[in-house]
Amino acid sequence: MNRIFLKKGRERALLRRHPWIFSGAIARVEGDPAPGATVTVCRADGTPLAQAAWSPHSQIRARVWTFDPSTPVDADFFRKRIRAALRRRASLPFFGQSDALRLIHAESDGIPGLIVDRYADLLVLQSLTAGSEFWKETLADILLEETGAATIYERSDADVRGLEGLPPINAPLRGQPPATLTIREHGLAYRVHLSASHKTGFYLDQRENRLLVRRLAADRDVLDGFSYTGGFTLNALAGGARSVLTVDASEEALALAAENLRLNGLADRDVTLQSGDAFKRLRRFRDEGRRFDLIVLDPPKFAPTAAHAQRAARGYKDINLLGFKLLRPGGLLVTFSCSGGISPDLFQKIVAGAALDAGVQARIVAQLHQSADHPIALTFPEGAYLKGLVCQI
Ligand code: SAH
Repeated sequence: MNRIFLKKGRERALLRRHPWIFSGAIARVEGDPAPGATVTVCRADGTPLAQAAWSPHSQIRARVWTFDPSTPVDADFFRKRIRAALRRRASLPFFGQSDALRLIHAESDGIPGLIVDRYADLLVLQSLTAGSEFWKETLADILLEETGAATIYERSDADVRGLEGLPPINAPLRGQPPATLTIREHGLAYRVHLSASHKTGFYLDQRENRLLVRRLAADRDVLDGFSYTGGFTLNALAGGARSVLTVDASEEALALAAENLRLNGLADRDVTLQSGDAFKRLRRFRDEGRRFDLIVLDPPKFAPTAAHAQRAARGYKDINLLGFKLLRPGGLLVTFSCSGGISPDLFQKIVAGAALDAGVQARIVAQLHQSADHPIALTFPEGAYLKGLVCQI
């Protein structure tokens, strides 16, 4: 039997049901666990506390599967966890409003390292840790049985896999997935490229926020600052925006945005797609005296961890300062950070600093979060990564 013994007093986080065990908390390892194998986690005095997946290459040396040391960790265990996650999704308020949905959100659904998203009738799986990798084939079989899907595409090409000593994988896992497919969300259709997209294909976490922008956009001149494939752009147009200017650094993302406009019969509206650096473009708009009534800023992750927070803070400050300067009186700034390393408090302070330096008075009229299919276990605050503010000047 593989067992790990914690240093004296280092069981505190575990007793609060936080699922991560850092290397520095471990006094000794008994046995020779393979990467991803199940280990029993014991208090310094030998009392078993939990069962966890062993990650020998990561600073997060083990992740808890169950806080009941007597529950076997086997296929049946994972089937129960997956069923429970699917049941929870089925009870969400917007279930049925979209055929693209996160089904498993890793730690927050009790399966650390595993992300599973449904895109129409296929699944995209992301395995991020030694533990999820160890069980991947079993998990894939159970997922097909429990969802009725026939196909799984694997997008295990996130950087964090490197920290676990795992190579990137971007390939079919079960069946023969098509290269692209169409999803529908709140009445709009989007093309998704399975292998060349961000995340698992689409920013599912912004679903409710896209709908909010649709509700705010009527008769406004809109700027969509980091548009990707046009999620906010499409919604602004669907909500009756007067014009939309869409900026992204990626030509491929904008090509797909153009396709999405056509797909939804929105291509003949007043919408302009511009490729380029949003920081430079917004500065140019400011210098040209252009103004907007609604600006969406959804930049990429500037700070993956707290260690990058300072440099990231500059980026957020600069882009939000430009955003505030480009607004007409009464205008709305819808601004996001998806950086795990930037807390909601810090983000609000950064945006407040940006408004001050822009010389505008702004108030928060809505605070936004990741959508409900990306839940945050109360025992795992790290699960909260996306925050947004709607500020009116
Ligand atoms: N709002 C989108 C997701 C945005 S993801 C949605 O709801 O689908 C962030 C986007 O920022 C990516 O498409 C990336 O290509 C783009 N990006 C990254 N750096 C950028 C920069 N400096 N200027 C403009 N776009 C940038």
